[in-house]
Amino acid sequence: MSNRKDINIKNIQKRLLAHRQEVMDDTDASEESRQPVELDQTSVGRLSRMDALQGQAMALETDRRRHVELQHIDAALKLIDEGEYGYCQICDEEIPVKRLDIDPTASVCIDCASK
Ligand SMILES: [Zn+2]
Repeated sequence: MSNRKDINIKNIQKRLLAHRQEVMDDTDASEESRQPVELDQTSVGRLSRMDALQGQAMALETDRRRHVELQHIDAALKLIDEGEYGYCQICDEEIPVKRLDIDPTASVCIDCASK
């Protein structure tokens, strides 16, 4: 299959790569908040241990979301490489340009996504 002519693949690819970089940069920045929770109260400061644990759980959740996001971005980039970008991966229909514009990683049409 070859990529659709009615969408600007180059532009979408650029957006995906830029977004990918952003997510990667964020991941580096959050490295510190993922360190194991210290039991030593002095290093925790006024935060209770419970708050610290909660913060860590949130950081892990953010990490998990970033991981999923990266997977979506990589999947979209792969589809571009294969010339299958912009087609619903379930029913093969063309995904509306508007939808791709809002979410360049969309790989299924709205009908299939809501099923
Ligand atoms: Zn579909």
